[in-house]
Amino acid sequence: MPLHFDASHFVGPKIQSLQTENLRLQEKVKELETKNALLNLRLANNQNETRNVREDIIRFKVLNEVQWRTRTRMSAQFQETKKRLCEIKSDLKNLESNVRYAFDGAQNLFDGHLQDLMLRFEKAQLKDGDLGELIGRVTELEDALQEANDNHIKEKKRRRKLHNTLIELRGNIRVHCRLRPLQNFDNRLDHFKEEFLERGDACGSPTNLGELGSPSEQVIHPIDDESVVVTQQKPGSTAKNFEFDHVFFPEDAQDVVFNEVLPLITSLLDGYNVCIMAYGQTGSGKTHTMLGNEKEPGVVPRSANELFKLIDEKAPGSVSVHVSVVEVYNNEIYDLLSENPKSTKHEITSTEEGGLDTTSTIQMQVHCSAEIEKWTAHGLRNRAMIATKVHEHSSRSHLVVTLTVTNHETTVSSPRKSSHEHSTMASPSLLSKKARRLPQPNLPTMTCKLANSQNSATCDDRDAIVTAGDSYKTKLQLVDLAGSECVGMSGVTGPALRETSCINRSLSALSDVLCALSEKRSHIPYRNSRLTRLLQDSVGGDAKLLLMLCVSPAQRYLVESMQCLNFGQRARQVQRGPPKKRGYSVMDSPTRPLSPRDSPLGGRKLRFQ
Ligand code: ADP
Ligand code: MG
Repeated sequence: MPLHFDASHFVGPKIQSLQTENLRLQEKVKELETKNALLNLRLANNQNETRNVREDIIRFKVLNEVQWRTRTRMSAQFQETKKRLCEIKSDLKNLESNVRYAFDGAQNLFDGHLQDLMLRFEKAQLKDGDLGELIGRVTELEDALQEANDNHIKEKKRRRKLHNTLIELRGNIRVHCRLRPLQNFDNRLDHFKEEFLERGDACGSPTNLGELGSPSEQVIHPIDDESVVVTQQKPGSTAKNFEFDHVFFPEDAQDVVFNEVLPLITSLLDGYNVCIMAYGQTGSGKTHTMLGNEKEPGVVPRSANELFKLIDEKAPGSVSVHVSVVEVYNNEIYDLLSENPKSTKHEITSTEEGGLDTTSTIQMQVHCSAEIEKWTAHGLRNRAMIATKVHEHSSRSHLVVTLTVTNHETTVSSPRKSSHEHSTMASPSLLSKKARRLPQPNLPTMTCKLANSQNSATCDDRDAIVTAGDSYKTKLQLVDLAGSECVGMSGVTGPALRETSCINRSLSALSDVLCALSEKRSHIPYRNSRLTRLLQDSVGGDAKLLLMLCVSPAQRYLVESMQCLNFGQRARQVQRGPPKKRGYSVMDSPTRPLSPRDSPLGGRKLRFQ
């Protein structure tokens, strides 16, 4: 019989023990897995470290390489430097020996000279008399040198005087050239440059102007007081020299310029007609030269001053002065002393005496230079002004200030009581009437000292000293011409363009007249313009004429400046015969007929002769 036993008694504990074993094994597995994970982590760390170490090794290798190369290079440089040092040391040695040699030589030379000097000194001491003689000779030589210097200065003066006499005998036009200093507005190129680039007109090419905004360089330089040189005309061209009767440097002040004009004012009182005319492009300094400003008065106020200084040396009442201020604008003559200058156009006509006359321009009698200045200022307020791009206050007209000097030949009559007339030309005269009608430009209540009178007389008192008898007139024309630039330069259009072309035409007419005169042509085209007609007596006649060329020395004006300098050269060629002296004595002109206008009491207004 099969053994029958209950297996559940064995299986249950077995399963339990197996389950326990299983649990234990599972925990073991977990533990091992954890260990494995840790080992993996450590392995990864180790691998990382190994990689870092490898990279370090590579870096070290590179560094090592670099160091090796640097060491090699430095070693080569060191060798080179060492070699150079050896060379320098050897040079130094050579130098030292050379210096020592040179020094020894110099020392020997010095010793030789010293000995020589000592010997000479001893000799000189021995011959005291010779020393005295030597000193005497030196003094003689110094004196001779001084004399030679004095003679040179005298000769120079004599040469200039002779030159002036020659000029006067030939009737040459005296031409002075004044270079003005560079001005701030010389650098304002922006506007012009564009215009020139667009138009490229006849006045100049863009190459004449410097770089945009850059300072315009000085290209016209004075050489001495008689010549100027123009550099940089065109790239590659040579410098050009011009000679004039006098050249003023940019730094020359107004008094220096006037000193050269001064003799002409004396000539005016000596009986000569005189004309001083400023020519040049706008902005070149014409108005500055002729009128100046309060601080730096120009030729007009200085001439007025000088004239009255000279008059004060004469007998009271022997000379009277009248002033007129006219402008030539758009080829018409306007009287700037009249109430409404633009209302009347004035004509120039020939007189019976062969002179020229403008109809009805006002001649104000003046008694002091201050009065001339006041009337000139009054006239200037009426002068046509228009802003151009060249110069903000560009004058678009020719201004002519005329001082007419009447010399009364006879003795002074008794002074009258005070007169309220402005003119000695008697009350019925047109002039006096006009003068009374004029708005008076705040004339100062001034006293005009008479040098040779013990008392000072007021202007009114001077009016009262009336003379009678023969008289002669001379006139001083002071002309501030309008700018000589051509149309394109000013950038003007419309009415201003007409003004500019009128200016151009009148200046061309002036140039033509000078050309015809220099070529001694039979026909001189004075009638081509009112300007030349107005100045006919002075330019072509027997006046002493001074042309003052005003020149801007900056590169941007080169074309205009060259035109101006050439104009001056042409004017110098003109020979008109000697200037004529007015006035006469009983000896040289006993039968001169008296014309009504010669008499200060003739009841007529003064006119241009
Ligand atoms: P223009 O009458 O020829 O048009 P201006 O006399 O008005 O020229 O001169 C232009 C500018 O240059 C003015 O501001 C003037 O004061 C200045 N100027 C001209 N000449 C001189 C000079 N010699 N010295 C100093 N400034 C000058
Ligand atoms: Mg001017």
